[in-house]
Amino acid sequence: MLLIQCMDKCQGGKIMSDQKPRPRPRNLEQEQEQEQQPDPQPCQRIKIVDCNKPVSRVFYECYHCLQGLVSECDKSPPTVKEIKITCPNCDKTAITLIAKKVLSTNTIESPW
Ligand SMILES: [Zn+2]
Repeated sequence: MLLIQCMDKCQGGKIMSDQKPRPRPRNLEQEQEQEQQPDPQPCQRIKIVDCNKPVSRVFYECYHCLQGLVSECDKSPPTVKEIKITCPNCDKTAITLIAKKVLSTNTIESPW
């Protein structure tokens, strides 16, 4: 409704400025989904070993509790999707990996 009114009244420039406050409602959605799907951290330590093999090992720290973790990932094509890995330590999403399948996840001493 608001958008239609705006299009009647104004040119494109005004519509664009109306869309700018949009990130605000997104924050509400994020809060609702926070428990299940936290946003990826802007920067997270990660180290991938054996990435030239079908199964690679990914060393990383949990997004939430910084628990050191290692996951074995099947990265063979073509099924490549985002897999959310639950931290064994805090039960939240530790990381989102692009892989066909995550074979195992184990806690380790953080390599960092
Ligand atoms: Zn954790």
